[in-house]
Amino acid sequence: MEKRIPDDACQYFNEAMETMTRAEIEALQLERLQATVKHCMQSPFYKKRFEEIGLKPEDIKTLADLRKIPFTTKQDLRDTYPFGIASTPLRNCVRLHSSSGTTGNPTVILHTQKDLDEWANQVARNLWMVGLRPDDVFQNSSGYGMFTGGLGFQYGAERLGMLTVPAGAGNSLRQIKFITDFGTTAIHAIPSYVTRLYEVMKENGVDPRKDTKLKVLAIGAEPHSEEQRKRIEDMMGVKAYNSFGMSEMCGPGVGFECKEQNGLHFWEDYYIVEIVDPETLEPVPDGEIGELVLTTLSREAMPLLRYRTRDLTRVLGRSCPCGRNHVRLDRMRGRSDDMIVLRGVNIFPIQIEKILMQFPELASNYLITLTTDEDNDNMTVEVELEELFTDDYSRLLDLESRIRRALKDEILLTPHIKLVPKGSLPVSEGKAVRVVDKRKVYQ
Ligand code: ADP
Ligand code: ZN
Repeated sequence: MEKRIPDDACQYFNEAMETMTRAEIEALQLERLQATVKHCMQSPFYKKRFEEIGLKPEDIKTLADLRKIPFTTKQDLRDTYPFGIASTPLRNCVRLHSSSGTTGNPTVILHTQKDLDEWANQVARNLWMVGLRPDDVFQNSSGYGMFTGGLGFQYGAERLGMLTVPAGAGNSLRQIKFITDFGTTAIHAIPSYVTRLYEVMKENGVDPRKDTKLKVLAIGAEPHSEEQRKRIEDMMGVKAYNSFGMSEMCGPGVGFECKEQNGLHFWEDYYIVEIVDPETLEPVPDGEIGELVLTTLSREAMPLLRYRTRDLTRVLGRSCPCGRNHVRLDRMRGRSDDMIVLRGVNIFPIQIEKILMQFPELASNYLITLTTDEDNDNMTVEVELEELFTDDYSRLLDLESRIRRALKDEILLTPHIKLVPKGSLPVSEGKAVRVVDKRKVYQ
């Protein structure tokens, strides 16, 4: 376990792991996969599953043999709730987290002390990669508690050696006071919350460029478009790096953008990354969108083999000017279960966001509502206006029709558009809720 903090000038937190060649990565993966599979035989769930199909740990001789192992699904975690999938006795576990339950019952993930240490190393690696050093002041606006974004970033930022401010979620005035009083240089936040924070800064006469020392944002935990990122960077006057995590894989730290901002580096010393066709479950070629499947390589309490994340993405490359050869994945489109099927057309909320963010007249908050009206399924997109100009009807109508046209080009359907005053749509403290489905008949 790497605990040493490198010199500030070093580009890498763990140079040996971050700069491995592809051949080195694959050799390490095979070694760690074999050890993981062996260890999984301590899990009643995996032991039974392997026995059922007559697979033995010794049958995993090459990385390609991974495909002999059945997938693990969220349903498996629910069926074995709370501890049935663990590969380590509870006595050796020191922490439990659970997913935020965005798409159903929560699932429980256990950690040993070693798991927590490795997780902190992963997060520290990411924060170091985007230029943060022990002199920085890191403020975490994630909710603490079961949500992994809280403690996950806390321990990672501390591992790096930063002064860490566990501000927690919400209470924007207090956040801003901390930012200015403590000289916060980096914030971790959910993208939808950064916009809110900026609004409150503006209302209180705080200019993030002049009145704060901010230089880096880590944004993640929910899907967001490139356009949304650009807006956030323009508003706050700093770089915003995409951070991917999920509780099943530990939490934040699984994938993170480097300074090139050309996709998320997924750490292949910790995970094997597969992208599969969600229907056939066969691998898709690099560049093609499919479901992300992850196998943990260093987890003790609860290793997961070929876990179907339901997140849709694609491989962008396996090398990078930053010197890291860990696979680069495209920003997530959303989860397969976020996909809206409306009149037979498949639409992701992120496609709608991308269009809306191109209109400077619009603010960042929006809500998609699906209804059945006289046997027809319809979509209404409510979006907040940056400024109120309700007295100028022709301007409103013109804006509405331009948005409708742009959306039609993107999603091939014509939604109703409702322009609403800023601050009138619900804001959640956690992940943003973008879609409300009130249809009578579900596809
Ligand atoms: P829940 O599964 O209940 O939402 P988690 O907190 O474990 O709880 O959420 C993990 C999920 O959040 C991922 O599977 C993914 O869908 C989403 N997510 C996390 N980070 C990102 C990101 N940077 N971009 C898009 N989606 C993300
Ligand atoms: Zn890179």
